Amino acid sequence: MAGLSFQDVTHAYDGVEALRSFDLEVRDGEIVCLVGPSGCGKTTALRLAAGLEPLSHGNILVGGEHVSGGGRDWAPEERGVGLVFQDFALFPHMRVKDNIAFGLKGLDRATRQARVGELLEQVGLPGYGRKYPHMLSGGEQQRVALARALAPRPPVLLLDEPFSGLDVRLREEVRDLTLRILRDVGAAALVVTHDAEEAMYMGDRIAVMQEARLVQVGKPSEIYRNPASAFVAKFLGEVNWLHGIVTNGVVDSPIGRVDAGDIGEGEQVDVLVRPEGLKLCSEAHAVGRGAWVIANHPLGYVSLVTLRLDDGNELRARITGQDVPSPGQDVKIRFEPDAVFVFPCRADHERNQPLSG
Ligand code: ATP
Repeated sequence: MAGLSFQDVTHAYDGVEALRSFDLEVRDGEIVCLVGPSGCGKTTALRLAAGLEPLSHGNILVGGEHVSGGGRDWAPEERGVGLVFQDFALFPHMRVKDNIAFGLKGLDRATRQARVGELLEQVGLPGYGRKYPHMLSGGEQQRVALARALAPRPPVLLLDEPFSGLDVRLREEVRDLTLRILRDVGAAALVVTHDAEEAMYMGDRIAVMQEARLVQVGKPSEIYRNPASAFVAKFLGEVNWLHGIVTNGVVDSPIGRVDAGDIGEGEQVDVLVRPEGLKLCSEAHAVGRGAWVIANHPLGYVSLVTLRLDDGNELRARITGQDVPSPGQDVKIRFEPDAVFVFPCRADHERNQPLSG
């Protein structure tokens, strides 16, 4: 069943469009990660669901019931929605236990205390109840924020860049803990992140936004392997960006002949190649387009190899194993067809658009 549904939601701030025809369902027990570049409307979607922003058009439902639209506009605390923000947003003058108990209304003292104790255990902070937020590390504060959001057992959890205020090591630790707890409580969770890898790690599904619209929703592996556009392909991972023209259903691209799918004859296309989809062979008689190795950076399990093709195009390849060619060496390139995507040419601004969130 749908824990959280957006139906045809459109929203603008003083004429600035932040969401357009936004349709998304997050089912009970599901984690959906909402990703996209800065300013594409991710936080607006969360704020509308939380009731922090009045809805202009469309409907938002929690557990199948309207909370915005359809004549309803429920207050944030009535919606059954828990919120976790990037900056933790704890009350500085309240002890940890009181921060957590803040949303627990209508319970007697003993029951409230028991629930707070249970939540502190759940987020791995037993015995922290009497501390104040300033006495905690960033990771601990974020765990308290999570406990506070979970306290009233909301059917929906909204998390806005919950780990981006933490350093890399803490981020992984708090993220894994959060993931485990979200699975345990079985709420519908919508997580905003600008980090595509984090979205693939956490999300049962990923919803990709671009300029106020959802452009693709699906399982992480589906989106990574079958991006709907060059934008999505680039957002989800590094690509080499080449060009070509469709002739007899194929593109004679700089790395070789690539199937053009149903793109029309004579059309200019973008050919995107994942670095891990390139294979290099240094044997003179090997088949493939010729290239010259410019640089080779060993990164542990993989090496990042920069190449110049005979036609002048530069590419990056991620190569595993011992047999990595050295700078100055001539090689032949082959590619995995699954790691190559062909799309009709888009304007250059899309190619160069910054993707950080
Ligand atoms: P980021 O990743 O940088 O947080 P975002 O994808 O969450 O971005 P939003 O914060 O939802 O994007 O903003 C979407 C658009 O709405 C942007 O153009 C932003 O400038 C605009 N916007 C957001 N909040 C307001 C506001 N309160 N008043 C006016 N414009 C706003």
